[in-house]
Amino acid sequence: MDDADAVAACHEAALFFPNPRIPESRIPNPESTAMTQNDTLFGKILRREIPATIVYEDDEVLGFKDIAPQAPVHVLFIPRHVLIPTMDDLLPEQAALVGKLVLAAAEYARREGFAQDGYRVVINCREHAGQTVFHLHLHLLAGAPLGHFGVPGR
Ligand code: AMP
Repeated sequence: MDDADAVAACHEAALFFPNPRIPESRIPNPESTAMTQNDTLFGKILRREIPATIVYEDDEVLGFKDIAPQAPVHVLFIPRHVLIPTMDDLLPEQAALVGKLVLAAAEYARREGFAQDGYRVVINCREHAGQTVFHLHLHLLAGAPLGHFGVPGR
């Protein structure tokens, strides 16, 4: 089965990635393969099809400035090679990938000099958290005291 067949199989089943019935090695790489159904604008950023201010890059993670920053520093960290729509779709074998997102954010904070002052990381999952882009991403917020968080009004 090649990538095109894997895409077709997912489309037929109308499933989001990752699909446990399709080995990860056969999931199309969002950095190099446009997907007609599950692609997101973060896939377009990965493929440099739309502009973004990229501030961090390693083999597995891309970091870029949020277009509507909620703090003086607001950077999004995303996996480069696998499309995971939400945190709820993570598989146990993808635990290391989550660690890489977190470590990328920590490295960026140290490099930019605000690690000692502190920062917040957030992963929004689905509707109640206000998730709008269904390509797993970690928000890094920093640059000022961030206040409390949680349910609005509390
Ligand atoms: P979430 O609400 O957790 O899904 O976060 C999605 C984030 O993506 C929001 O904070 C948006 O401001 C941000 N965003 C949307 N479009 C772009 C874009 N083209 N470049 C950078 N950030 C974006």
